[in-house]
Amino acid sequence: METDCLFCKIVAGDVPAEVVHSTARTVAFRDLNPQAPTHVLVVPRVHQPDAASLAAADPASFAELATSAAAVAAADGHPLDYRLVFNTGSGAGQTVFHTHLHVLAGRPFTWPPG
Ligand code: AMP
Ligand code: ZN
Repeated sequence: METDCLFCKIVAGDVPAEVVHSTARTVAFRDLNPQAPTHVLVVPRVHQPDAASLAAADPASFAELATSAAAVAAADGHPLDYRLVFNTGSGAGQTVFHTHLHVLAGRPFTWPPG
């Protein structure tokens, strides 16, 4: 655990969040500022700053982000249509530097993204 990391604190239960799913390696909770009817963040229990770092350090946790995301979307009634996003780097919109997979569903999505 990184002492100054918001998502490490949520994983530890030290900061409250609406947890909707958890596994041995992941925790999923609703985004505070939802951008779609379903907007959940799936995070690994281990601290890594971004998706590639996590995949290199702990491939099992990286894989479990995707399977957890599918379970979250299905539980909200969207088993077939959802969008998964890893913002990586501040220029791409990353604001929390603990790997997190955005799960968005429940409305149409345009391409390319904004
Ligand atoms: P990103 O901009 O990709 O790093 O995503 C960070 C996300 O974390 C944003 O969508 C925020 O709305 C969300 N967020 C920030 N603080 C919290 C919190 N305490 N609980 C839930 N979501 C949060
Ligand atoms: Zn962390």
